[in-house]
Amino acid sequence: MSELRKDPVINRWVITLDDKTFTPHPDSEFIHGLSEHEPACPFCPGNEDKTPHTITEKKDTSGAWSIRVIPNNNPYLKVETPLQRKSIGIFDYVTGMGANEVIIETPKHNLDIDTMPLNAVADVIKTYADRINDLKNDTRLEYVLIFKNRGKRAGGHIEHAHSQLMALPVIPKKVQEEVDSAEAYFKLKKHCVYCDLVANEIQMKDRVVVENASFLCVTPFASRLPFEMWIIPKRHDSHFGNINNDEIQGLSEILKDSLRRMNKALSFPAYNYIIHTSPQKAGSLEHYHWHVEIVPRIKSLAGFEWGSGFYINPTLPEETAGYLRSL
Ligand SMILES: [Zn+2]
Ligand SMILES: [Zn+2]
Repeated sequence: MSELRKDPVINRWVITLDDKTFTPHPDSEFIHGLSEHEPACPFCPGNEDKTPHTITEKKDTSGAWSIRVIPNNNPYLKVETPLQRKSIGIFDYVTGMGANEVIIETPKHNLDIDTMPLNAVADVIKTYADRINDLKNDTRLEYVLIFKNRGKRAGGHIEHAHSQLMALPVIPKKVQEEVDSAEAYFKLKKHCVYCDLVANEIQMKDRVVVENASFLCVTPFASRLPFEMWIIPKRHDSHFGNINNDEIQGLSEILKDSLRRMNKALSFPAYNYIIHTSPQKAGSLEHYHWHVEIVPRIKSLAGFEWGSGFYINPTLPEETAGYLRSL
């Protein structure tokens, strides 16, 4: 039986099916049995000269780095570029000013968030927040997106665990749509849509994957793709950079646990996660609420989806949540 479902935040429709024959895309490219150190890997310790200079790093008690932040080798955008805007006819241009950084999450080649120690994941989360807050000093930047590409189908070409940051002189359309839709909801109901979503999902239970004191992980009601998950903080805040120490711990736990369940369910799929936060200069918004979206890349988009903005999800979010809960 098929259904059309509307995302309560962004009013995006999806078609959900209950297709028992759906099988995830088979090219699970995660190689099991990686060694802790890979001599040819540019992100492994000892190969620091194969990457650009270090922007910032954390060190362990022995003085070796535990997290390194570096500029992308081939950055799409550079902070050195002057910000200039121009229009020719109806066409607008902005120079390629911005930042494209890589966060090397661990010195160990064979680990990822789900297998890293909890305190190391907490350091990664803290580094994300520190970079976003530091980049607030560059007033040319309107938005900072933190994302992770793991596996080739997700756009990740280096197997050593890393995430990226793109700092932009414009606000991405998807983010602006989310902020605007959340604002429209707030004007109508006088509540934050994400706070209402958390309350509803806790009450309904059937889309909750896992929960702790400060976060909820759900398979969204109108999930675009099979096994999509959102991690939403229970405390309202529009800006991820305001995350507190308890929440850093809570997010580390729930992110590790959600990815562990995803990996167990889907045999280490390629995946992305992204942090949606408010624009850099937005101040504290009562209508917007930062969150993390996790998307395993186990299904390709077809013509109808590309052309309509509809997604067709062959699995019911309630069933995937139930399965993920059992793992
Ligand atoms: Zn490596
Ligand atoms: Zn909220």
